[in-house]
Amino acid sequence: MAQAMDRPAPPVTRFAPSPNGQLHLGHALSAIVAHDLARQGGGRFLFRIEDIDGPRSRPELADAFRRDLAWLGLEWEEVPAQSTRLASYAAAAEALKARGLLYPCTCTRSEIEAAGARPGLEGLIYPGTCKHRPPDPSRPAAWRLDAAKALAETGPLVWEDALAGPQAVDLSGLGDVVLVRKDLPASYHLAVTLDDAADGVTLVTRGADLFTASHVHRTLQALLGLPVPRWHHHRLLTGPDGEKLAKRRGSPALAQRREGGEDGRMLAAQLRLQQLGIGT
Ligand code: GLU
Ligand code: ZN
Repeated sequence: MAQAMDRPAPPVTRFAPSPNGQLHLGHALSAIVAHDLARQGGGRFLFRIEDIDGPRSRPELADAFRRDLAWLGLEWEEVPAQSTRLASYAAAAEALKARGLLYPCTCTRSEIEAAGARPGLEGLIYPGTCKHRPPDPSRPAAWRLDAAKALAETGPLVWEDALAGPQAVDLSGLGDVVLVRKDLPASYHLAVTLDDAADGVTLVTRGADLFTASHVHRTLQALLGLPVPRWHHHRLLTGPDGEKLAKRRGSPALAQRREGGEDGRMLAAQLRLQQLGIGT
């Protein structure tokens, strides 16, 4: 049946937590936003485990995550975890290397600090030390995107955030980000971009703390010929002191609240109101 011309295609959203620690309230909000945007548009809500973070990844947490989502009253479709997709990351990285868009970087964190790196939007901006020297094959190397070369190839790019509006791609606050880690065939940026494309995600929903990462992801989509989704970066929850709620600062894990007998659907309802600026 033909779709009415003015009706947008049903969105495909996702919640993609890393099993490095238990889910907390901020994750609950991300999952609810993604879930509700999919449901409101008659689309699909996907759940993906981002489990390539080597030693920090604890596979047993995935089951607790599923229980947390069900407790919040959400229904989802689970798509393959990142650990099953390493070959696709490696293939994309090889293609970018073959085009001269990546360069190896053997710097350690302390070397980057010692090289006088400036603070950027996400930690230090890599000062480009390895871009201008021959690789040292005796040291493990990460591979960085040559941002200047990449953008010279793509030309100006834009992306669209549902709340913040159109954004011109600007990598100057990020520098040459790592796309292939020393210990893994991909970094977060490469893996998530490929996964969202492979899963057919059309509306990338996540917290505003990952807003700047979308500049990198949009660049990768252009370089790799991937479909371009829209984004929805939601407001982050803040504690009573106005500080971002992070698991590190002792906000209770969802699993703890669930096991303590709290009503998860009620909590979800409160988070929805809070996101609308109603309620506390
Ligand atoms: N795995 C990331 C995290 O748990 C989220 C990735 C994303 O939504 O793009 O922080
Ligand atoms: Zn380096």
